[in-house]
Amino acid sequence: MSHVIVIGGGAAGMMAAIAAAKNGNSVKLLEKNEKLGKKIYITGKGRCNLTNACETRELFGNVTVNSKFLHSAFEGFDNEETIRFFNSIGLKTKVERGQRVFPESDKSSDVISVLKEELRRQNVAVLLNSEVQSVEASGEKHLVTYLSGTENRKKTEECDACIVATGGLSYPSTGSTGDGYRFAKYFGHTVTPLIPSLVALVTREDVSDIAGLALKNVSITLENEKGKTIYKETGEMLFTHTGISGPLILSASSYFAEALRYEKPVPRLFLDLKPGMSLDELDSRIRKDFEKELNKDFGNSLDMLLPKSLIPKIVALSGTDPSKKVNSVTKEERRKLAETLKRTEFHITGTGGYPEAVITKGGINVKEIDPKTMGSKLSPGLYFAGEVLDVDAFTGGFNLQIAWSTGYAAGQAIH
Ligand SMILES: Cc1cc2nc3c(=O)[nH]c(=O)nc-3n(C[C@H](O)[C@H](O)[C@H](O)COP(=O)(O)OP(=O)(O)OC[C@H]3O[C@@H](n4cnc5c(N)ncnc54)[C@H](O)[C@@H]3O)c2cc1C
Repeated sequence: MSHVIVIGGGAAGMMAAIAAAKNGNSVKLLEKNEKLGKKIYITGKGRCNLTNACETRELFGNVTVNSKFLHSAFEGFDNEETIRFFNSIGLKTKVERGQRVFPESDKSSDVISVLKEELRRQNVAVLLNSEVQSVEASGEKHLVTYLSGTENRKKTEECDACIVATGGLSYPSTGSTGDGYRFAKYFGHTVTPLIPSLVALVTREDVSDIAGLALKNVSITLENEKGKTIYKETGEMLFTHTGISGPLILSASSYFAEALRYEKPVPRLFLDLKPGMSLDELDSRIRKDFEKELNKDFGNSLDMLLPKSLIPKIVALSGTDPSKKVNSVTKEERRKLAETLKRTEFHITGTGGYPEAVITKGGINVKEIDPKTMGSKLSPGLYFAGEVLDVDAFTGGFNLQIAWSTGYAAGQAIH
């Protein structure tokens, strides 16, 4: 039996503490906030998309970096196991569109409640308002120094194993302020470049005049510098004061974050406003629309095709004088309009910031971590789990799955 200290009461930390306790260890969980799972509370718009019910092998395809590193962790505790685990501790789940798994109650607070109850059942000592300041080695053991309670009393405690599950840098208001990177560096670990991801994108194009406009059923394509399509998806997007956002863009942001963090060329992003029609179909649809509007100005003739606020932008991009009468618009000009609707480029210059990012891309270099146990290769007895590691995934429940799987791997490895 080992004495284990888990740092961080988020998804990875709570799972790690439960798994370590089930192995017969004495476990203490230190959380700097006044309560556990502050980030879980806001996941899935307050409903917590806790995993994805896809085929287990599809998990890997949804991990954007270092998916191979996760093989053992997913094998040991996969998405099916996650659902079974939560059902077994009293949380009923349901599967929605895109195989996303939610609590049947639609309440993320229920996910936190069942985890808290399980921590209690497994006799994990949970210390809230306990902010860890440092982790040091002491022979074969580790010394964890933390500020305890509301009066901030400094305490140092020795443990046989220490699991760092402090999360990344996104939504720092939930307690994720990157402390784990500092602890890791102290032991000689490297941290790969960090950047906000699953986040809005900043565009060179000024779209502030249409901020708030939401588009449904549009499609985006990302192309690499050789013009090869690397991502194509249809869904909802939104214009913001600085660029573009919405579910479709959040997923795509992963590609931009990955390129930007290594200062590589970013992909090109093209918007298709009419993905349901081919270019020819769209052209003939516009021709038919125009036949009904022959005496209108070109700029006022697209109401049936586009939201009002978007029309001036598209007309400008198509290059045709908006005051031109529809009956004098040439075949080429009409074709150019159809082409603009099918393929408008937005130049991405950056991502939104950590306060609004769903995840942090980058983290502790996984080459320095044993993929079976999440143990540090540099300091035996030290473990890492969750977003603090350089692993991340698309939206859809995959990031929490990483937290559950790596947390479980670390906890169950300790005897
Ligand atoms: C708005 C939003 C919505 C999301 N929705 C989903 C979703 O629906 N599905 C999904 O799969 N993923 C979602 N995610 C991502 C997911 O929440 C994270 O990937 C996941 O919570 C990471 O878990 P973690 O335990 O590694 O880190 P965290 O959840 O960040 O937990 C880290 C914990 O460590 C504590 N801590 C930090 N430093 C210290 C210290 N020095 N001492 C003591 N404690 C410390 C923090 O207070 C925190 O409680 C969402 C994220 C956000 C921001």
